[in-house]
Amino acid sequence: MRRPPTLKATEIFASVQGEGLRQGEPTLFVRLAGCNLRCGFCDTKKAWRAGRELPVDAIVEEVARLRLGYPAAWVCLTGGEPLAQNVRPLVLRLHEADLNVQIETNGTFPPDPRADWHTVSPKPPDYDVHPGFFKRAREAKLVVCRDLTLDAVRTVRAAFPAATPIFLQPQSNAAWSRKKALELLAGTLRSGLEGVRLSAQLHKVYGIG
Ligand code: SF4
Repeated sequence: MRRPPTLKATEIFASVQGEGLRQGEPTLFVRLAGCNLRCGFCDTKKAWRAGRELPVDAIVEEVARLRLGYPAAWVCLTGGEPLAQNVRPLVLRLHEADLNVQIETNGTFPPDPRADWHTVSPKPPDYDVHPGFFKRAREAKLVVCRDLTLDAVRTVRAAFPAATPIFLQPQSNAAWSRKKALELLAGTLRSGLEGVRLSAQLHKVYGIG
């Protein structure tokens, strides 16, 4: 008999999307375990190795249970790197439950065409974004870490269609990073680049999730 699909997950919780275009929307999160990258600024390092293998059915049941008290319309698959695992069975099941699915990804694996929304967080200059995202990503966000350069922002801006916003997201909302984000934004404006925006992690401002 065929084994039912499973995914390695670290947590399933209700919160608010703190980043990007969907910022502020109540959202149910499924944090999947494992990541193929090792970013020094990663704020979800516990997802690199933690987690347990769960049947997709059990994940959907937990999402449904949370939704009883928190009737959000969106589920966000985050990580870690969710696309390092086969999320398609989960995406399909969430659609059957009448939920929209956002995937937050580092962009190094191919997109899942069934997802409703891809948020790509490129990690220049060391890792290329899979070309499938250039048309499919709804937004891209760059963590403003100490190594992020204006050239890297320009390269990412040029890679995505003009209508895809590029968010400059200060690392952990830190003051030095906010200052650097402002400087980078000014640099993009001086360069005549459009569609680059400032961001901040709203969930950290509110102390939730
Ligand atoms: S890609 Fe994301 S989850 Fe993976 S190490 Fe980098 S910041 Fe962390």
